[in-house]
Amino acid sequence: MIRRLIDRLLNRKTRGPRAAIREKAREYKGSELGVIHGAISDAAFRTCETLQKAGHQAFVVGGGVRDLLLGLRPKDFDVATDATPEQVRSLFRRSRVIGRRFQIVHVMFGRETIEVSTFRAIQDEAETDEHGRVLRDNVWGTQPEDAARRDFTINALYYDPLADRILDYHDGVRDLKKRSLRIIGDAEQRFREDPVRMLRVARFVAKLGFSIEPRTRTPIRALAPLISNIPSARLFDEMLKLLVSGHAMACLHELRREGLHHGLMPMLDMILEQPDGERFVTTALERTDQRVLAGKPISPGFLFASLLWQPVRIRWQQAVAAGAPAIPALSDAIDAVLDEQAEKLAVQRRHIADMREIWMLQPRFERRTGRTPYALLEHIRLRAGYDFLVLRCDAGELPAELGDWWTEFLDAAPDERAALIARASESGSGTGPRKRRRRSRGHGRSNASDSPATVPGPADHAG
Ligand code: ATP
Ligand code: MG
Repeated sequence: MIRRLIDRLLNRKTRGPRAAIREKAREYKGSELGVIHGAISDAAFRTCETLQKAGHQAFVVGGGVRDLLLGLRPKDFDVATDATPEQVRSLFRRSRVIGRRFQIVHVMFGRETIEVSTFRAIQDEAETDEHGRVLRDNVWGTQPEDAARRDFTINALYYDPLADRILDYHDGVRDLKKRSLRIIGDAEQRFREDPVRMLRVARFVAKLGFSIEPRTRTPIRALAPLISNIPSARLFDEMLKLLVSGHAMACLHELRREGLHHGLMPMLDMILEQPDGERFVTTALERTDQRVLAGKPISPGFLFASLLWQPVRIRWQQAVAAGAPAIPALSDAIDAVLDEQAEKLAVQRRHIADMREIWMLQPRFERRTGRTPYALLEHIRLRAGYDFLVLRCDAGELPAELGDWWTEFLDAAPDERAALIARASESGSGTGPRKRRRRSRGHGRSNASDSPATVPGPADHAG
């Protein structure tokens, strides 16, 4: 209140971050825009209802409203309110306050979690780094301020499910109809404040099939290097959202089109610029998209294992070619790639553990003699390792026969398994790569004598 008075006296509103604030919203009836009564989840409805009954404002906001108006099924629902996190917490038995940068409250209903955030203020003198990135913005504000600090107009629509009322401060409804992604406020300034917004452009454009409004698009190319200032844990979160959006490949192409793909991950430059790795990652991402669209869960460990496999494989291949024993060489290659990766994008530790296991299992699938296949049956990550193996076969990196054999072996009744192992040995492929290599074509790396694994490149099995 007092700040607004001072602002008015100093005429501050006309410039700086506060220039984007609009005090008045356009109002629509939800039903008039095609929102069906009951389209939002019970949990979201009840969250708003409880808050309103306690005398607060409460709206569904963000992607949930946007997707409803587009006739898509919302992934989840966020609620915005004028209640403070403590007030929210006290109203819901199953809730907790989370977040460092900005406190929000998770309200749990059964398996659904509603993220409730308090209206956020726009600060004139927010603390920023030397490129204009906002380092702290932990101040509560009014709804018009909250609307102005959201990223895109289509993400700043507020829906009151009890009153069936939509508030639109920035012509988001018009932009939805035009299928145009437009940033709120001055594009350059908003991308400087938070470079993650540029990645979000790519995600929404790919997911929604929208075009980027020209003034939103113009500064992106020049500001793309600011991506490297994003804290690595946050970059991971945002990249994961992009990869599990159900439109992963389209997102990556969009990143490339906007010049945003450099420096995110070693794999990105590689997938998009070198044909070698492309088939593998394309196959992996197509499957991820299919799973997401079918409503199946995605394991981030598996996903990142797929994305970082090519650099691991290449390093491994080089070490083995130089005479290193295969298993330690694989382990070293993994360490090296993960180290390099961690500087840019911090994959969480528990996912790293999954990735390492999936990768380290790979050479073991190539040994189909004696007890080895049985030992694998007991491995806790067998399923993920096997899925990864199949992916490698489908991408042409390994012979299809190997993947097929494992599919049969896993399906087989216990008493059929010995016959399968015998068959693999007979055909000469079961004894593992070591023998196969000795007897086969000179690869120039056949001197890797004690190697229990092949390290095939995509070319090895072409045709
Ligand atoms: P999705 O359907 O993928 O969840 P979303 O728009 O809901 O899309 P979230 O990341 O869940 O995206 O964010 C919820 C809302 O918070 C956004 O719609 C937007 O209003 C706001 N928001 C999120 N990230 C930013 C950001 N970096 N800058 C400004 N506003 C943001
Ligand atoms: Mg969301």
